[in-house]
Amino acid sequence: MQIILLGAPGAGKGTQAQFISKHLNIPQISTGDMLRTAVAKKTELGLKAKDLMEKGELVPDNLILDLVQDRISETDCANGFLFDGFPRTLEQANALKDRQIKIDCVIEIIVDDKEIIQRMSGRRVHSASGRTYHIKHNPPKQENIDDETGEALIQRPDDNEETVKKRLSIYHEQTYPLVEFYKGLSSKQSSTNYVEISG
Ligand code: AMP
Repeated sequence: MQIILLGAPGAGKGTQAQFISKHLNIPQISTGDMLRTAVAKKTELGLKAKDLMEKGELVPDNLILDLVQDRISETDCANGFLFDGFPRTLEQANALKDRQIKIDCVIEIIVDDKEIIQRMSGRRVHSASGRTYHIKHNPPKQENIDDETGEALIQRPDDNEETVKKRLSIYHEQTYPLVEFYKGLSSKQSSTNYVEISG
């Protein structure tokens, strides 16, 4: 099964991706997590991505597409994968289509901007795994500690209110057009399903 999770930053894609990937036994491919690892390791990609990510802007399509192409050619993707935070532009979606990467299902998680801004301030992350929590709605068993590893949780630097607003405006401008793109595709091609979920 090859799935795309679509939705604004903070809609809950990462949280739902963990459940779905466990349930279907397919890897979660979060381009955001992969980029954060590259930034932490100071790789060439990480150095190019760091400033853009801190400002809440998108990383260029060509860098993302190379990253994704390499990842899905790994053996654990043979039975499918779940994209979380990818594609984020029409160029990225068209590249998937041009490369004939089949998508079985697109799941859109719908949440109001106002709600997102409230949620993001309470979000905490386990950096190494990308596991996310919310201090009220999905708290860890022990405050600020990851349930599985016992390691400390952090607040992402791009989760402050000003950057969240910027990320939301970029979502509406550059990523939201994918809703029409995939709805259109699913009405033409019965092999791609489109599902809307209230987040
Ligand atoms: P996320 O963890 O998905 O919210 O992503 C964090 C940041 O990584 C975004 O604000 C972008 O700067 C960058 N990023 C993640 N995925 C993509 C993508 N598919 N295209 C461009 N930039 C991305």
